[in-house]
Amino acid sequence: MSDWKRSGVCLCHSSTTTGSDFCLRAGVRKHNSAVDVYHSTAGEAALPLLGLCEVAIEERKSDQRTHILILHTEAGHSDVSQAEWFNKSAWVHAVQICNLERIGHVDLLLALALGFDFVFLQKLPFEHGAADQSKEVELAQMMGGEERLELFVSQLELRNSMAKLPRTGGRWPYRRPVPGPNRRATARACATVLMPGVHQPLNLPQDAPYGTVELDLSACTMCQSCVWLCPTDALSIGEHKCELVFVESRCIQCGMCQSICPEDALKLRPRIDPKPSADTQQVLHQVEPFRCTSCGVPFVAKSMMDRLLARIWGRKGVRASEEVQELIPLCHSCQIQKQQGGNTKPAPLMIKPRQVSRQLL
Ligand code: SF4
Ligand code: SF4
Repeated sequence: MSDWKRSGVCLCHSSTTTGSDFCLRAGVRKHNSAVDVYHSTAGEAALPLLGLCEVAIEERKSDQRTHILILHTEAGHSDVSQAEWFNKSAWVHAVQICNLERIGHVDLLLALALGFDFVFLQKLPFEHGAADQSKEVELAQMMGGEERLELFVSQLELRNSMAKLPRTGGRWPYRRPVPGPNRRATARACATVLMPGVHQPLNLPQDAPYGTVELDLSACTMCQSCVWLCPTDALSIGEHKCELVFVESRCIQCGMCQSICPEDALKLRPRIDPKPSADTQQVLHQVEPFRCTSCGVPFVAKSMMDRLLARIWGRKGVRASEEVQELIPLCHSCQIQKQQGGNTKPAPLMIKPRQVSRQLL
């Protein structure tokens, strides 16, 4: 029984696209085919295939035939039509996508975890786009999509690959992934669902945007430069300002911490850790705190303060006025109090420091 469905996803507009402005409508009219075209709203844009997958998973649960998703451009329309002519017995959802280059590993993993046994993706014709697309496919394959994802160039390739697939996929084997608050979290959720037996971190390619950092404890001076530069708050300062804390699921492997570290103490390690512990804080380094000489509150690493004081008091060190030397071993509040002559009330025109809570990604 033939069961081919067609639809289109527009990824180039905001939620209010109408009539002929709709890029896919023009393409569909040209091909004169009955295709449902829908547009991703702003919310769906983060996961443009989510609606389609929600429908597919319900169909797949009641129909054990192998469910295939084909993602193609307008230029691939005729290839898909010919593949349909030669393979009428399959259950296929062919989706024409404008800006196919915006379909990444997250979308592919979502489709594989939510209703589709196999995904075929049309290879982009331009060199740069094709290289990026291959990386996304490779990443999705390593994150649980192995042997279930394929790029195709021609209708012959598509037809031959489809002919090799089994007719039935049996009972749907995966539990439903819960899409996360962002695309990264969704990718991690899908990878966990797709690799139920994997409980150890899996190494990923060098430029993968998931991974951990390895710290050379003997080199790290707790200068905190890496913390202030980390764009995702994967690195932060823990209790008493003397702990270097890391959350693996937030690390995008951008390498900024590594490049700023004056001691060359950090190394990146791309990997995916499916364990829930990847979402929690791990203490990478812990050092003795230095306590404010006035109120006793710990506020900096003792090693850092010792080094600074040694430079100030050393013969060849930094020259500092007596007043500044008195302020250095004090915490921020005590420094302000001292500068105001012991007055605890804020000065008339002084702006009260804001309580900044760093948002989780
Ligand atoms: S890892 Fe490097 S940059 Fe980060 S606190 Fe340690 S020494 Fe400073
Ligand atoms: S690689 Fe980037 S995201 Fe990861 S800890 Fe370093 S700075 Fe933060």
